[in-house]
Amino acid sequence: MAHIGTDISAAKAFLEAGDVVGMPTETVYGLAGNALNPDAVLRIFSVKNRPAFDPLIVHTDSLEKVFRYVTHLPEPARKLAESVWPGPLTLLLPKRDLVPDLTTSGLDTVAVRIPNHPLTLALLRSLDFPLAAPSANPFGYISPTTAQHVADQLGDQIPYVLDGGPCGIGLESTIIGFENEQPTVYRLGGMALEQLTALIGPLTVRDHSTSNPKAPGMLSSHYAPRKPVYLLDPHEQPTGMDEQTGALVFSEPFLGIPIQNQLVLSPSGNVIEAAKNLFAYLRQLDQMTLTRIYAKRLPNEGLGRAVNDRLKRASVTTP
Ligand code: AMP
Ligand code: MG
Repeated sequence: MAHIGTDISAAKAFLEAGDVVGMPTETVYGLAGNALNPDAVLRIFSVKNRPAFDPLIVHTDSLEKVFRYVTHLPEPARKLAESVWPGPLTLLLPKRDLVPDLTTSGLDTVAVRIPNHPLTLALLRSLDFPLAAPSANPFGYISPTTAQHVADQLGDQIPYVLDGGPCGIGLESTIIGFENEQPTVYRLGGMALEQLTALIGPLTVRDHSTSNPKAPGMLSSHYAPRKPVYLLDPHEQPTGMDEQTGALVFSEPFLGIPIQNQLVLSPSGNVIEAAKNLFAYLRQLDQMTLTRIYAKRLPNEGLGRAVNDRLKRASVTTP
């Protein structure tokens, strides 16, 4: 069973031995391994049961180190990197040969991010290799936002979870790529579109795909609990409720659903607070004795947009 602790040198020793560990970031907890070691990367795919076509994000702690792994930073990427990192933004950049094909699923770009978490930055500074770290959950299930979530699901397969407390943002990073130097958003996430636009101007958003997704967060079913979730627009009312109906709402509970079965993401109607609670509350509802869960869409602004994206992927299409 994984040990949960705050010992950076313990995590470092496991990583240097080629093993994988749970690691906190400000977005969600990652399952970390040496991004330059194909055996460690294979271990990540196998522990997560993640398909090999789904490339990993490479985490490091300085822009200087980023240049060890990428050949070139397009101008908008440089601007974003300098103003947002460390932060919840992943950039897709042309990779150097040093980065194994396994890490990027054979693509010639590598996803790179400098995470904003003091423990993890200290860990990254102490290592002479970067960390591949997809979310530390079985593929397709709800992402973990506490060390305990990681231990609950992957604890029997990994030796250690570095505990950095609950994640401050609670949504995966926003992913931006640059085709012909033009920035395109491939996954909505912890950095709001409005903030990105303010930095580099208008962006194309291309976050929907069916087969062969550019980013797997683009798969239509992802981040999903085991119980059916039905997503409603703000004006819609649930139907056919009973004692085993649950709900995940933004600020106001639904009428007609037992109040003890409803979790309120942000009683004050704050989308940032809602984002932070989203995955933990979905997990909690998944563990309650419920047969179905209704969720209500948030206002489509700021992080509300990324929360709606995750709710959509967590939900089934028809009640
Ligand atoms: P996760 O770390 O589980 O949130 O997943 C990492 C995300 O980054 C996935 O959606 C990947 O598909 C995406 N990603 C990583 N590398 C690339 C790349 N080179 N091109 C496109 N998407 C990427
Ligand atoms: Mg994931």
